[in-house]
Amino acid sequence: MTGAPTITLNDGKTIPQLGFGTWQVEADIAQQSVEKALEVGYRHIDTAAIYGNEEGVGRGIAASGIPREEIFLTTKLWNDDHGAEPARKAINSSLERLGVDYVDLYLIHWPCPKNKLYVETWEALQQFHSEGLARSIGVSNFTQETLEEVIATGMTPVVNQIELHPYFSQAHMRDVNKQHTVATEAWSPLGQGGDVLENPVIKEVAQEVEATTAQVILAWHLALGNIIFPKSVTPERIEENWAARTVELNSAQISRISGLTRLDGRIGIDPVEFN
Ligand code: NAD
Repeated sequence: MTGAPTITLNDGKTIPQLGFGTWQVEADIAQQSVEKALEVGYRHIDTAAIYGNEEGVGRGIAASGIPREEIFLTTKLWNDDHGAEPARKAINSSLERLGVDYVDLYLIHWPCPKNKLYVETWEALQQFHSEGLARSIGVSNFTQETLEEVIATGMTPVVNQIELHPYFSQAHMRDVNKQHTVATEAWSPLGQGGDVLENPVIKEVAQEVEATTAQVILAWHLALGNIIFPKSVTPERIEENWAARTVELNSAQISRISGLTRLDGRIGIDPVEFN
C-alpha cells in the first residue's frame, strides 16, 4: 500500500484516513515536522488557529514542493471567533497565515454551548463553503444535541472531530455521527502518548501482529473507520505511525481493544462544560 486509505465524505469529497496532527507542535518546529510527514507520504495535515503554528504548517506545505491539490489541509475556528463577523475574520486570517487560497476542511473547534453562537457560526461556514474558501466544512467536539441543531439548518457537517482512543472509544457518538452520515475523526488517537501505549492487552496484540503498540492502536482506529492524525515531531515515530496503515487486526483483536474503554477514560475537556 502506498497512500493512506480514503474515506468519502457526505459531500462527495475524499479524505485520507491517516493524516498528521500538529497540536503542541511549536511554530518553529511545525515547518520541519510537516515537511517530514509529507516526505514520508502523509497527505493530510490537521491544524487549528489556536495551535499558533499555521504559518509553520503553511511553510512546510510550500517547501515540500507537493502540488497543493494533493494535500488535504484542515484548520479550525477558535472559540473567540464564533458569530458571523468574527468567523469571517478568522477564516481570512487562517488562510493568510497558511499561505493558501482555500482549506480542504474548516471546523468549528468547540460548540461552546453556553454562548449559543454555534448555529450562526455554522451558517457562516456554509457561506465560506459556497465561496470556495473551505472545500468541506465540519465540526469538532459536538455532542448529539449540538450536532443535531446544526444539521437542522439544512447542511450536515462532513465530520465531527472528537476525543477517541482505546480508553474512550465513544461508541455512542460514533453511532450518532454515523446515523447522520457524519464521518468520525478521532483526536488524541494515541491517548496523547499516555499509558495506553503500555496497556497489556495492546502489548499482547502488538506481539501477535509483530507491530508496535502505537501501530496497533492506529490500526484499530482504521479498522473502526475513524479518521486519524497522530502527532509526533520525532522522525522515526512519524514513519512508524505512517506504517500503521499496513497493520491488519482480526475481529477478535479489534474487540479486545474496544473492550479497554473506561467510564473515566476522557483525557480532554467535556464539550458540555467548555465555553
Ligand atoms: P496523540 O494521541 O496523537 O498523541 C501524540 C503523542 O503521542 C506525541 O506527543 C508522543 O508523545 C506520542 N507518540 C506519537 N507517536 C508515537 C509512537 N509511534 N510511539 C510512542 N509514542 C508516540 O495526541 P494529540 O496530538 O492530542 O492528537 C492528535 C491530533 O488531534 C492533534 O495533534 C490535533 O491535530 C488533533 N486534536 C484536536 C483536538 C480538538 O479539540 N479538535 C484536540 C486535541 C487534538
